[in-house]
Amino acid sequence: MRSSAEVAARSAELFRRAQDATPGGVNSPVRAFSAVGGTPRFIASAQGCHLTDVDGNDYVDLVSSWGPMILGHAHPAVVEAVQKTAAHGLSFGAPTEGEIELAEEIIDRVDPVERVRLVNSGTEATMSAIRLARGATGRSKIIKFSGCYHGHVDALLADAGSGIATLGLPTTPGVTGAAAHDTIVLPYNNLDAVAEAFATYGDEIAAVITEAAAGNMGAVAPVDGFNAGLRDLTRRHGALFIIDEVMTGFRVSPAGWYGLEGVAADLYTFGKVMSGGLPAAAFGGRTDIMENLAPTGPVYQAGTLSGNPVAVAAGLATLRHADADVYTALDANANKLAALFTEALTDAGVGHRVQMAGNLLSVFFTSDTSTPITDYAAVKNTETWRFAPFFHALLDAGVYAPPSAFEAWFVSAALDEDAFGRIADALPAAARAAA
Ligand code: PLP
Repeated sequence: MRSSAEVAARSAELFRRAQDATPGGVNSPVRAFSAVGGTPRFIASAQGCHLTDVDGNDYVDLVSSWGPMILGHAHPAVVEAVQKTAAHGLSFGAPTEGEIELAEEIIDRVDPVERVRLVNSGTEATMSAIRLARGATGRSKIIKFSGCYHGHVDALLADAGSGIATLGLPTTPGVTGAAAHDTIVLPYNNLDAVAEAFATYGDEIAAVITEAAAGNMGAVAPVDGFNAGLRDLTRRHGALFIIDEVMTGFRVSPAGWYGLEGVAADLYTFGKVMSGGLPAAAFGGRTDIMENLAPTGPVYQAGTLSGNPVAVAAGLATLRHADADVYTALDANANKLAALFTEALTDAGVGHRVQMAGNLLSVFFTSDTSTPITDYAAVKNTETWRFAPFFHALLDAGVYAPPSAFEAWFVSAALDEDAFGRIADALPAAARAAA
């Protein structure tokens, strides 16, 4: 058997080289395997549910590029659309018909969305939605929830101050106190905290932003009535309600989390699936709010590459190919994976909770197996040290999991029987490694 150094020799060489070119050797921190240790795999190619690294190792992919690849990698319909579109030019800085089609596709699927603006990343979508909410209401403060991630927008990189309904503190150097000061950070799934914040700051609050279902602290679904309660409180206090569907949008159902729950927000943010693996994202909502944007209104927002034709083509091909069978497969695959986790970890005597939010799922290691994990404090209380050995045993057996205990696992519709066979074979040893 090859040692792990031999298995990843070329990846290790590239990782050393990358660190002399890029901070930490990566262009997004979680890719560096900092939370689990070891050598991040440099990927050479991907097909269906498989990743192949530069050493020629093959992995069953349970990350799906952090969500976008619901159809699997290099899906022929998407690749063909990209190739065809690219052959006609890569970017024009002028409008194209495809942009209308993608906006219409989103409007058709998510009822409360009447107008859409395309941007380049989920971060840009949430940043722009917050600016729009502030511009439309003339108010400054926003409420976000601890453990929810909305991209690396200054105002959203804030931690809770001490006590409920206090103003936020920057989570990272580079975010000013002023940028975080207008952010109120509250515990997820706690409507009383939101009501208290509105009681204190009511007419200063422009918007509440929440992940449709939290996926960035691991999968933590909203408890019954949480999103509906946010809808109610924001409406009563004249604030806007922003639902971030960057992760859930067009993944957990054809209409995203909205399709499962039906709570209508004023503004939505989208990314990941809607651009099929290329950089595009969007925000959208009610016409009267969206028309505050330039050029119809005074709130400025723009982008050289926004609505890029190739990214739009990849998104359209993905959405159009994602028929009922694809959504059935996504749900079935998530349920199958959850059942395999439960079986292996139960057999190994490892206390755990497998939590799902639609077809997003996470495994939390905990001896308290009966209490649902509903907020970030509870997530941080889990036995996260068990995750790295679990992760590495899977990786060694050719299963690529998210390299952090605080992430959701993303299935694709391309996972097949062979892939599940490999996962089932790998899990008993991984479960023992976590024990
Ligand atoms: N919002 C949510 C819910 C996300 O999960 C992410 C990224 O993972 C973002 C926003 C930011 O998107 P991007 O990484 O495209 O900037």
